[in-house]
Amino acid sequence: MIPGTITANHPLLTDAATRARDIRSRFKDLFGGDCRLYRAPGRVNLIGEHTDYNDGFVMPAAIDFDCWVAISSAEGTAFTVHSGNLGETREFDLAHPQPRHDWSDYIQGVAVMLQKSGLPARGAKMLISSGVPMGGGLSSSAALEVAAGYALLDIQGSPVDLMQLALACQLAENEFVGAHCGIMHQFIACHGKAGHALMLDCRSLEHQLLPVPKDARLVICNTMVKHEISGGEYNTRRAQCEEGVRLLSAVLPGIAALRDVTVQDFERHRERLSPTIQKRCRHVITENQRVLAAAAALTQHDLASFGTLMFESHTSLRDDYEVSCSELDFLVQVAQGMKGVYGARMTGGGFGGCTVNLVAVEAVADFQQKLASAYHAHTGTVPEIYVQTCRATTSPFQSTHSRMGRSFAAPD
Ligand code: ADP
Ligand code: MG
Repeated sequence: MIPGTITANHPLLTDAATRARDIRSRFKDLFGGDCRLYRAPGRVNLIGEHTDYNDGFVMPAAIDFDCWVAISSAEGTAFTVHSGNLGETREFDLAHPQPRHDWSDYIQGVAVMLQKSGLPARGAKMLISSGVPMGGGLSSSAALEVAAGYALLDIQGSPVDLMQLALACQLAENEFVGAHCGIMHQFIACHGKAGHALMLDCRSLEHQLLPVPKDARLVICNTMVKHEISGGEYNTRRAQCEEGVRLLSAVLPGIAALRDVTVQDFERHRERLSPTIQKRCRHVITENQRVLAAAAALTQHDLASFGTLMFESHTSLRDDYEVSCSELDFLVQVAQGMKGVYGARMTGGGFGGCTVNLVAVEAVADFQQKLASAYHAHTGTVPEIYVQTCRATTSPFQSTHSRMGRSFAAPD
């Protein structure tokens, strides 16, 4: 086995039918009775980092790892939720919604937002079993929200509008959990398609699916670290972007977000900004350009150009936005010199988490081995490396409930 590699028999990659059987049996042990199953995928962002809350462009792709929710309805308005990943049970009541300041807020938040949009308040029992690594920048929280939201709507026989669901889940995370994330995470969990990246305009929500060429793989490398400063730094970066817009709007009337500022306008007026705000703004403004260029490259099957843009994105995140860390930089630097690697960059909010690499299929095995060994030798930590197979499913999540007329994707 290649060190640090998730192999075919890893629990994260257990085939769907086996997983469904295990979760149903676990649900019966916990709550008694039958359940319905729903799932939503995590995501990796290929390019377009810290652009979402600046009304800009992003390019995430749904990944093979997903969050499953087993559910049955309960009497009244009471919820009992159990996370198989954490081994913890929580209770809350929709008649008296109240954040508990723990993981169950993601579920309670979604239930509250759906209720506000007209879904009757009814209780439920839920078992959560997720294969999306938590806190690694692969959107385990959005996968949990979307799977739970879909489950709650469907068991009440309410039609599921994926756009509305994504927005309700974002609202839950922003207002109930208190994490001020953009729409990207929930949007891709709802609209991702196997084998494709999705370019999203975070302002208009217009989106375009772009096929990921079959001769390349997305390889995700988890540093296994998450530096504590990330939350506070995220809020600081958001405030710095807003400050940049405020200062630039004196000479560029009509701009509402950094999305509206061209590279040329920025260069002309950047002296109005402090050196730090200049750097933050330059990252966001040039990153938006890179996403558009990357979409054009992918459309033309130009992986070399796409990869170059990924490296440039990393440099900009490291030097201008200053959200990288030594572990991420090391992984990108090692990848940069390797055969068959088109591009590499940190992905997610930063200060730890994962890198995403675009690698030629024939180079993947060698890449995994060398990257894992180099990282282990350098840090003493064994990284997890996830090679995305982009398995064909017709929907990012599916229910075994026959009324929906769908079944699980065939086992590998
Ligand atoms: P990311 O979304 O990048 O994985 P976040 O910090 O946004 O990181 O979300 C991670 C949080 O989401 C966890 O700390 C936990 O509160 C919640 N979460 C995600 N998946 C699960 C799960 N399977 N069980 C319980 N909580 C979960
Ligand atoms: Mg999250």
